[in-house]
Amino acid sequence: MEKATLSKSTFIKGLQCEKALYLYKNNYTLKDEISPQLQAIFNQGNAVGIFAQDLFPGGVDASPSSHYKMQEDVFKTREFIENGEKIIYEATFQFNGVIAALDILVKDKNGWKAYEVKSSTSVSETYIMDAAIQYYTIVNSGIDLKDIAIVYINNQYIKKGKTDIHQLFTIESVYDRVQEVFPNIPNEVENFKQLIKQDAVPDIDIGPHCNNPYSCDFKGLCWKHIPDYSIFNIARLNGNKKFDLYNQGITTFDQLNLETAQLNGNQKMQVVSELEGKTFIDKENIKHFINNLEYPIYHLDFETMASAVPIYDNSRPYQQFVFQYSLHIEQEGGEIVHKEYLAEANTQIDPRDKFVKRLIEDCGIKGDVLVYNIGFERGKINDLITLYPQYQNELQAIMNRLKDLMTPFQQRWYYMPQMQGSYSIKAVLPALVPELSYSDLEIKEGGTASNTFTQMVLGEFKGDIQKTRTDLLEYCKMDTFAMVKILEKLKLIE
Ligand code: SF4
Repeated sequence: MEKATLSKSTFIKGLQCEKALYLYKNNYTLKDEISPQLQAIFNQGNAVGIFAQDLFPGGVDASPSSHYKMQEDVFKTREFIENGEKIIYEATFQFNGVIAALDILVKDKNGWKAYEVKSSTSVSETYIMDAAIQYYTIVNSGIDLKDIAIVYINNQYIKKGKTDIHQLFTIESVYDRVQEVFPNIPNEVENFKQLIKQDAVPDIDIGPHCNNPYSCDFKGLCWKHIPDYSIFNIARLNGNKKFDLYNQGITTFDQLNLETAQLNGNQKMQVVSELEGKTFIDKENIKHFINNLEYPIYHLDFETMASAVPIYDNSRPYQQFVFQYSLHIEQEGGEIVHKEYLAEANTQIDPRDKFVKRLIEDCGIKGDVLVYNIGFERGKINDLITLYPQYQNELQAIMNRLKDLMTPFQQRWYYMPQMQGSYSIKAVLPALVPELSYSDLEIKEGGTASNTFTQMVLGEFKGDIQKTRTDLLEYCKMDTFAMVKILEKLKLIE
């Protein structure tokens, strides 16, 4: 059997950008490293694929012994079919230099049907192309395929007791949509095979395609001529507008013409602030914000976890729910007390159960509850009210006391060049309080905290659990301590 040149993922890569395909096949080492967050998404996708096999139980597994030996899979699949197997997991087919593994191949009374599992919650155009290249390898291998379907997560499913796999997944036939694009597939395959053999890297410049449908893994290479802080960082500027500017040869702020660049007030402020090193402070609005705060101030921050397959009763796929909080309670005289909660990482104990009771206890009944990005905490408290109606009054009372420390920065009442167009706490803290930093912490951002706790719950965490629990506590504590310090700076404004 000839060596396969293209796989499903390289085919999709080629559709996104021919340069990305070429580099992947010829200059693989130039690829960016996979971030832990992306790796966690891949792992989740694999876990969902295996979970979905229970939709068609009792099948045989054609998986290869290693990712580099996919052709083993082709032989195994052929053997299984010849032996009369009716359900094959990781069924793999190769045709004309293209190899593609299918999650589940099933033969029922109507014939063969293909099921490709995705951990997302809808069918995208990319999945249709993915199914089409799959279909290309299967039918050209002599299988009379009666249907091809995408199996994806139903995010309206609410777990109650044992997971109902038929409710958790939606199966949607994409046969007709595949037929529409299928006539183009042979040409695309030929085109990509020729492209890979070329001597020179395709001359393709950066553009919106670098992030669509996926963030390309050669951005480190192709984007290296773009400064770390550039017109691509102008807050809320439409992506097409950014590339319009880029195509006019503009990448840095000093190349911008503020008369013609069609920027809004905040965007102009960002540019002027950078060029002139200027800080903008709207003293009146900040004073009004500070004077309206009611002590004691409860600086509060939640951490949340989510999983594709719900772990606990009364939760939906991908629903973000709370497992940890940090609370700095600040009295008017300056005295500060810290309280915190971190749930047990356990599939049998819902982290929200104790969380809600402790939160009510710790938040008291008087004084503002200050958060950073009110929509997030408000949404999570609302979810808790739905789950624990017996605590509705207490939770509603906390919600009524919420105020948002992000407002002065989001409204640009306080803007410094160091914020680089962002009003997230990770940008505001180093600008206002440079002596305080997340960089010394083991866990530096919320995504890592969430993934780490989820891994602990699922028993997949490999590190030192006790130490990592301390790291989680330190991280969340830093978020609310940062709020105390940011507020302290705002209070100094005369
Ligand atoms: S970074 Fe953009 S231009 Fe470069 S290979 Fe990827 S998609 Fe193509």
